[in-house]
Amino acid sequence: MSATAPDFSHNAMERGRLLFAGPCDFVLGASSLEHIPESSLPEIAFAGRSNVGKSSLVNALTGRKTLARVSNTPGRTREINFFRLGSKLMLADLPGYGFARASKTDSERWGGLVIDYLRGRPTLRRVILLIDSRRGVLRNDDDVMDVLDRAAVSYQVTLTKTDKLKPSELVAVAARVAADARKHGAAHPEMIGTSSETGAGIPELRAELAALADT
Ligand code: GDP
Repeated sequence: MSATAPDFSHNAMERGRLLFAGPCDFVLGASSLEHIPESSLPEIAFAGRSNVGKSSLVNALTGRKTLARVSNTPGRTREINFFRLGSKLMLADLPGYGFARASKTDSERWGGLVIDYLRGRPTLRRVILLIDSRRGVLRNDDDVMDVLDRAAVSYQVTLTKTDKLKPSELVAVAARVAADARKHGAAHPEMIGTSSETGAGIPELRAELAALADT
């Protein structure tokens, strides 16, 4: 996709495939810090604006259509939803941010629970920050990168909905988003482009996450 896209070996891709082909279970939805499950597993959190394609991506990764639907169920959209990949990795689906008519209370609520979670989760290995490839980095994405910088959390930008763009457009967007992410010190330099529609980038993202899982 671009010079920043990682290159994976056959073995790394196979480890990713096996990890996500194994058991994957919904653990719980946490609406406050005390409900967050204790865990000794390495953890990956997914963040992104509402409608960025987060549920579709979690479904595409796990190959289970029903899993992330949970996260989009009314009443659960403000919760952090935890999924467990056997005894290897925990996934945390963070609430979407940046509703079109977001009130201050919405963003404060996102901020409160999520910031407490980000600061107090020693097992958190990385946040996958989803950016819609048609939109690039918008202001609230930039705000969230600031939050992640301040919480000293390692994060990696992943583009969604790449099927919506021509290859040349995608290269340009990837360069622009990479430049925006580089302004933030904590950003992981490599970026993956994904489409839940075509499956593009899904094996690569699985490989990336498998490298962070318990073996
Ligand atoms: P969420 O709010 O971030 O969980 O977003 P959803 O996964 O619910 O997706 C929002 C909308 O984008 C839905 O209409 C999806 O069908 C659409 N969508 C999600 N991923 C893709 C993708 O990779 N390609 C295309 N073309 N549409 C997508």
